Amino acid sequence: IGDGYYTFINGEFREIEELRSDYVWSQYEPLDKYIARGGYKYFGKFLSEGNKLFILELLIKAGLLGGGALGRFKALADSANRPRYLIVNGHEGEPGGFKDRLIMERNTHQLLEGTLLLSLALNVDEVIIAVNERFRNARAMIERALDELRPFLASRGLINRLPTVTVSLVGSPYIVGEETALINSLEGNRGEPRLRPPDPTEAGLFGKPTAVINVEVVAAAPVLLGNYYEAREITIEKYFCITGDVDKPGLYREKLTIGLNELLAKAGAKEENVKAIFIGGVSSGLVHSSKIRVRLMPEETRKLGVFLGPGVIIALSNYRCIVDVMLEVERFFSHESCGRCEPCRLGTKELVEVLEKTSMGKASEEDLRWAETVARIMMETSLCGLGMSAGKVFLDALTQFRDEFEEHVKGVCRAGVHFR
Ligand code: SF4
Repeated sequence: IGDGYYTFINGEFREIEELRSDYVWSQYEPLDKYIARGGYKYFGKFLSEGNKLFILELLIKAGLLGGGALGRFKALADSANRPRYLIVNGHEGEPGGFKDRLIMERNTHQLLEGTLLLSLALNVDEVIIAVNERFRNARAMIERALDELRPFLASRGLINRLPTVTVSLVGSPYIVGEETALINSLEGNRGEPRLRPPDPTEAGLFGKPTAVINVEVVAAAPVLLGNYYEAREITIEKYFCITGDVDKPGLYREKLTIGLNELLAKAGAKEENVKAIFIGGVSSGLVHSSKIRVRLMPEETRKLGVFLGPGVIIALSNYRCIVDVMLEVERFFSHESCGRCEPCRLGTKELVEVLEKTSMGKASEEDLRWAETVARIMMETSLCGLGMSAGKVFLDALTQFRDEFEEHVKGVCRAGVHFR
């Protein structure tokens, strides 16, 4: 489905080839076109359902939501504490990620239908679509779509039966994408993560029950509902944003059973030239090319310790120096750390320091062991996912490519990036 190619170069989108997709359009899709291709076809039927939470079960079955979400969302839907909120998370700060932005800009009405369906299932009073402040075009498209949608809903007498939907820009720092930091940002506070418990579904925005669901997941809801009512298989293709050392970087949409090697081949990477792959982005984990045949299903990738969620796949060729790549990654985490907890604030700096020394051939075996200890502490004691990820991805690299790190200690860089 998603066979158009987008490249993310120096922080900019570059469209290489027109999208030939029936899912993400090459430009904004107006309401009449969305309806003509089946939009809102089952909205009335869903509205008349008693228990609407089954739509969440469809998302879980399709592998887009974790199984644990159902209990928490059910408690939210039943909660007496009001108002209840749904936040659609359009922050997408993961480096190399661009699927949510494209959905917001182009499949806007599909996203809005999904938003309304989930707001009904969760029984919320208000919906906020939280858009990264860098994506101003996405906000403009959502507002345009809302303007088109209101008369349509009013003509069917639906306005009073639906919660209000608003769009809000949130800060762009990476950590704001974390759901409790996103809530802080929407409240006008510093975009820092909150301690849990309580879970946002118990006490989220302004202390009220709040569900935070990602754009891709929300936009999938109308498709899965159609599959359900038409007795088709409950499945959906997932978006993958492929960048790095591939000939055809871009947005792909594939079944969650595709092998990583097959997906990379579609993006023009030769299996024998791949050294390692970030699966799920740099915050998820680095995987050695010996695992390249893994099927991209949550149950398979979980065994490798990575999480597919953001759909970011970054391929590293044999010509990349792992130390060099990790130095960039840890500099990124150090820059994005909010500084609230010591394991992350100090740990990311320590890792950068050791990696700089390693890249210059000035690190010792003792330095590598120290960095390993620091990374483990970060993984175990950081307050939120950023510090944990920064530690984890370093350990992924060190354990799978220890020989390359040790070569640097001896002044050898097999990729020829250092010590020229
Ligand atoms: Fe902030 Fe990092 Fe601690 Fe998260 S882990 S709270 S980003 S300092």
